[in-house]
Amino acid sequence: MLSGRHLTTTLPLSHNQPCTDLKGHVRRRAFPLREVHVAQLMDGKFVAARVRGEVAKHAERLTNSGTRPTLAVLLVGEHEPSKIYVRHKQRAAAKAGIASQLHTLPSTASQAEIIAKVQSLNADPGVHGILVQLPLPAGIHADPVIQAVKPEKDVDGFHSVNMGKIATARPELTPCTPKGVMRLLREYEVPLRGAHAVVVGRSRVVGRPMSALLLAADATVSTCHRHTEDTPSFTRRADILVVAAGSPELVRGDWVKEGVVVVDVGISRMPDGRLRGDVAFEEVEPKARLITPVPGGVGPMTIAMLLENTCILAERHAKAS
Ligand code: NAD
Repeated sequence: MLSGRHLTTTLPLSHNQPCTDLKGHVRRRAFPLREVHVAQLMDGKFVAARVRGEVAKHAERLTNSGTRPTLAVLLVGEHEPSKIYVRHKQRAAAKAGIASQLHTLPSTASQAEIIAKVQSLNADPGVHGILVQLPLPAGIHADPVIQAVKPEKDVDGFHSVNMGKIATARPELTPCTPKGVMRLLREYEVPLRGAHAVVVGRSRVVGRPMSALLLAADATVSTCHRHTEDTPSFTRRADILVVAAGSPELVRGDWVKEGVVVVDVGISRMPDGRLRGDVAFEEVEPKARLITPVPGGVGPMTIAMLLENTCILAERHAKAS
């Protein structure tokens, strides 16, 4: 079980040796005769590169046996950040040997037109994964569109069938961001059984499935949200803290205990153009045993998991046909 241990005793680090991340980069030096708290960074870029390598091999095997994994992305409207995200996803897919199709509809498209487009992708045997880029334009209800995606092609894992399977600890297709967080925790050998995991946020995209996955991994889970009274009283008791609130630097240094493992899912662009997470990194890092940076933590993992999910769906399709 995790405990708030002094970090110089928990890292693979003797008192006068540098601390390195997975890539071997020196992060910080601890000196003898001084108590120094050292957090190790959970390097999402590095782990995601490893996952993408695995996915590329999987995609190649599938392609060689006659099924080229294919992802269809549906982009509705002119939301600029969404266009950038979609470009990143398509580029990553191409690098992994996954085919991607971009389907666009104007911001004036009706709910029925969007659903009709999803249904035509459902019916296309050459498409294995369907991703509806969120948010949808104002006036469009996301839920009926998400529910229109066939569960067998629901690469994001947002359909109620896939969510229900996660909630009942029988995951078949796991949403990319929480799946990426679980993979990061595994890569850094964070013990989950019996640990107190606190998730801040309960969105369908991140918080809810995150809590369910941690629970399925035998953690004791507290989920905080906008209506939680005194969220810091929960986060201070966390062995593992996952924050997905969309509120820059919400979690301050005095919200966490020594030795906590912190995963910052949040990403917000500040008025000065800098990216910020939901955790005040400079305050929290000195108390943390492990912490993700923003950017370079969860974000790259999300894309890697999207590619992994596409291959999983393509393989299931190949086996079923
Ligand atoms: P959302 O707005 O749908 O949900 C936010 C959740 O946080 C809600 O459940 C809300 O109740 C809770 N919350 C908000 N303020 C809170 C507070 N002060 N105290 C406690 N709970 C609070 O957001 P989302 O889609 O889950 O995304 C959250 C953040 O994660 C955003 O910054 C988003 O950009 C980021 N995100 C990053 C990735 C990635 O790949 N890195 C993926 C998805 C989302």
